[in-house]
Amino acid sequence: MRDFEGELAQRKQAGLYRTRRQISGPQQPELTSDGKPLLSFCSNDYLGLANHPGNIDALRHALPETGLGGAASHLICGHHDAHHQLEQRLAEFTGRGSALFFSTGYMANMGVISALAGRGDTIFSDRLNHASIIDGCILSRAKVRRYAHGDVDALATMLAQTSGHKLVVTDGVFSMDGDVAPLKELAQVCRAHDALLVVDDAHGIGVLGPQGRGSIAAQGLSEEDVPVLIGTLGKAVGTSGAFVAGPEVLMDYLVQKARTYIYTTAMPPSIAAATCASIDLIERDDDRRRHLEKLIAVFRQQATAMGYQLMPTETPIQPIMVGDNWTALELSKALEQQGLLVTAIRPPTVPEGEARLRVTFSAAHSEADLNRLLQALSSCRHLLPSPGVAV
Ligand SMILES: *Cc1c(COP(=O)(O)O)cnc(C)c1O
Repeated sequence: MRDFEGELAQRKQAGLYRTRRQISGPQQPELTSDGKPLLSFCSNDYLGLANHPGNIDALRHALPETGLGGAASHLICGHHDAHHQLEQRLAEFTGRGSALFFSTGYMANMGVISALAGRGDTIFSDRLNHASIIDGCILSRAKVRRYAHGDVDALATMLAQTSGHKLVVTDGVFSMDGDVAPLKELAQVCRAHDALLVVDDAHGIGVLGPQGRGSIAAQGLSEEDVPVLIGTLGKAVGTSGAFVAGPEVLMDYLVQKARTYIYTTAMPPSIAAATCASIDLIERDDDRRRHLEKLIAVFRQQATAMGYQLMPTETPIQPIMVGDNWTALELSKALEQQGLLVTAIRPPTVPEGEARLRVTFSAAHSEADLNRLLQALSSCRHLLPSPGVAV
């Protein structure tokens, strides 16, 4: 038998061993973690909607109407009015012909990619794409070519060398670097080479673009430019699940072919109802986005002034680059001693030698919260080498 224990010990030695902390109470910046109060800067609840009273009320109201369980897959008898309404709402919100509600973003990526490309086809995938995209590519059995992060010229060269059906897939906002994909250029290149463009906007939906319509809308693009949009609902939307949106014919095709849609139980319909309420809120509430933008701008200015190395991005994902695994852990631990929760991200989630603290902001953070983070960072600055640290 394989030496599982030995592999675990090796991971511990390399500073790569992962543990889970246990949270009590609702998700919000003020967390109780293993019984201890912590101010969190690592959630993906970018708009502070995971514990929003209006959305919780919507869930409570829906329950007597919908009951609890999903009971069956969408193609048997699980497709409820509430799911259908959410799909129509999501199509409208994203300005697309149609939408499908998936149970998770992971399943959406696996299902969509493996349905839209198969044996004999070629998928082109950004080198920093999310794990679920990578797994979807493997599952499809298509040939996979990875292009350098955000490198549209490299992609164009690869596309020109390839015949047959081509699918290009990218994160809209990259989950560990926080930068935004060059969607306009990608759309142009895909059109020129007859490739189908799929964008996973897990971290853009709700946060970027007019009324939070995401990174595609933020770059002035539409369904014609990016035919397939995937979004998650457990991040800025604050509920659970995911969706795919695009032309009706493609959504119809996915209902026939996407195995992670077909062979799984429908989500509890009450979650769909609460998600509709959250989308209404997101569309209306520019103040949340404005407050979030302000927190991010102040953080960037102050942390840079302290000599921390950040990434060139204005999204709520603001990684502090460290380099070495142990130093990243040490910095995270020092912040925790001051009551702050900022997780260290290490390989294989990020490339070797690019360990970092992944700081994320939420509209639920106050200016006082931000100041606590900045003060703690200032007192921990000595843990990193001189300005312009390794990477
Ligand atoms: C979180 C994430 C997913 C997975 O979504 P879940 O709904 O959490 O399964 C997919 N893609 C990206 C880029 C993500 O960050």
